[in-house]
This record gives sequence, C-alpha cells and structure tokens, in this order.
Amino acid sequence: RLPRHRFVDEALSSHAYEDSALPIGHGQTLSQPYTVARMTEALLKPGLPESILEIGTGSGFQTAVLASLARRVYSVERIFALLESARKRLHALRLRNVRLHHGDGGLGWAAYAPYDAILVTAAPEGIPRALVNQLALGGCMVLPIGHGSEQVLVRVIRTEQGYRHEILEPVTFVPLLG
Ligand code: SAH
Repeated sequence: RLPRHRFVDEALSSHAYEDSALPIGHGQTLSQPYTVARMTEALLKPGLPESILEIGTGSGFQTAVLASLARRVYSVERIFALLESARKRLHALRLRNVRLHHGDGGLGWAAYAPYDAILVTAAPEGIPRALVNQLALGGCMVLPIGHGSEQVLVRVIRTEQGYRHEILEPVTFVPLLG
C-alpha cells in the first residue's frame, strides 16, 4: 500500500518496485523490500508495539511502514538533509503519528523513552547500551551488528536482569556513525 517510488529520486522510480536496495544520496541506501519486511516481522513478533523508536530515518520508507503498524513512531537521523526530505514525504502521505529528530541515534531519544520496540537501520559494532536502556521491560530491539561482510541481524529482548539476544541471519548495512 506504500508508494515506494515516492521515497527515491525520480530518476530511480522505475526501479522502486524491484527487490533491491536503492541509493538515496549522501552515501546512504534505502534497504531492499525483503530486508524492510524481514526486520519489521522480527520486530513485531513479540506483539504489536504502541511506540517504536527507529534509528536511521534515511528516506523515511521504513518509518512509513512502521507508522502504519504502531500508534507512535519516533525516528532519529544524523544527516539533516535526509531527515528534511523524509519529513516532507511523510507529511505528503499524511502519516501524522511520526516524530523526527536530528541527532546521533546511538544515544537513542531519551525524551520519549521507554519504547516498546526499537529498530536500527545502520550497523553498530555491538549492542548500544543507551538503546537497551530506552527499551521497556519485555520490549524488543532489532538491529544489524558488525562491519563489512561480517554483519548479522540480531533481536534483543529487554529483561529485568539486562537483556537476552538471538542472531537471526547475515545482512549488509551501512555503518552506524557517531
Ligand atoms: N531506514 C532507512 C535506511 C537508511 S540507511 C530507509 O528506509 O531509507 C541508514 C541510515 O542511518 C542513513 O540514513 C544514515 O545516515 C543513518 N545513520 C547512520 N548513523 C546514524 C546515527 N548514529 N544516528 C542516526 N542515524 C544514523
């Protein structure tokens, strides 16, 4: 139901419905539809979250997918120009349950914590402590971890003692930068 061609440059719009990643400028990419679906599925498996924090807004496509599934979505992006383009697209699609923030997503977004779910779309080297701390008890975080060809998709569940995690599958993402 989501017009993916509206999230990429017009010159690329004829490729928008292929199952491939697409460049969105600034050296970043919109993930391939399979990956967006797989990450969303992994995130929602423990139950439908009320509030979701996304790290790495990029084009805003994954943000829009989440906004149609949860009551409130918060998303943090470090490249201001990408954030502002995403803001315009989400506004044009009348997705009003999204809040965007320009900053370092490795630190999360403390103002609206805790979140029922956190989705990270750029890869840190390990599980960021700040993000675990902003997860509600029993909440779920899905993120890629590692660098180069060594990345894996991981699901983290927040517990009273800290967290437990499971490795889902190999993936390739741009790095999470400070
Ligand atoms: N979910 C996006 C995928 C974009 S790629 C989409 O659907 O289009 C990952 C994004 O993470 C990039 O836009 C990159 O700028 C951003 N990113 C990388 N490090 C970050 C950080 N520390 N904080 C916030 N965003 C970050």
